[in-house]
Amino acid sequence: MLFDFGDTLVLTDRWNYDKCLKRLLESLHNDSVIISIPYEKFKHVYFRVRNQMYLESEKSLREVDFGQRIAKTLKSFNLNINGKNPAVKRAIECFLDAFIEDAHIESYAPTLLTRLKKEYKLGLVSNFAYAPGLWKTLDRFDLTKFFEVVAISGELGYRKPHPRIFRKALKTLKVRANKAVFVGDSLKADIFGAKRLGLKTVLVENVGVRKNPYAIAGELDPFPVKPDIAIPNLRKLAEILDIL
Ligand SMILES: [Mg+2]
Repeated sequence: MLFDFGDTLVLTDRWNYDKCLKRLLESLHNDSVIISIPYEKFKHVYFRVRNQMYLESEKSLREVDFGQRIAKTLKSFNLNINGKNPAVKRAIECFLDAFIEDAHIESYAPTLLTRLKKEYKLGLVSNFAYAPGLWKTLDRFDLTKFFEVVAISGELGYRKPHPRIFRKALKTLKVRANKAVFVGDSLKADIFGAKRLGLKTVLVENVGVRKNPYAIAGELDPFPVKPDIAIPNLRKLAEILDIL
């Protein structure tokens, strides 16, 4: 049984992107990478760069490197710095620490995963551009122990719905697609991606959570695919397990 991460197991509705970006900028400033860039100006360019990069990779589904995103943003301010520079890495860590502060676990997730682990092989398949950030978030919520495989777009280079990331998880678990179930909140990334490989799909609607204004464009839009089952929250999954 494979799970999505964001807004399926760990909820991001309290995510304060401004706080994250401000910490990132502060870190670049502390490392003397920048002298003074007004926050609003930086934010404007950052989002332009980010959205452009995701638009360009919409077809290939190549993951957009976080370091490169920062490097490109800084280039607009005539600053040449490599995305792999330790100061950029530190800035990304600051961004992620702020992200983790406001992330919260779906309250039923630990109970559900504990129960499922007795009967199923469990895996996590996540679109997360900076893989160490996902590992850190999983540790923060004590979730790592549940999964035999954690497939991360930031590590593999491809995002859901690209087949490669799903196949990687199935291969590691040694489970055939038609014997697997995918549980996620995105029609396009999770349900479409998993369904076309032959997995059974469960859409978690988490009403009220899936309005993340910072989601990658299109990821949460309506998408012409039907999950095998749609449930309002994870608690419901435990109730319907018998029919999966
Ligand atoms: Mg999600």
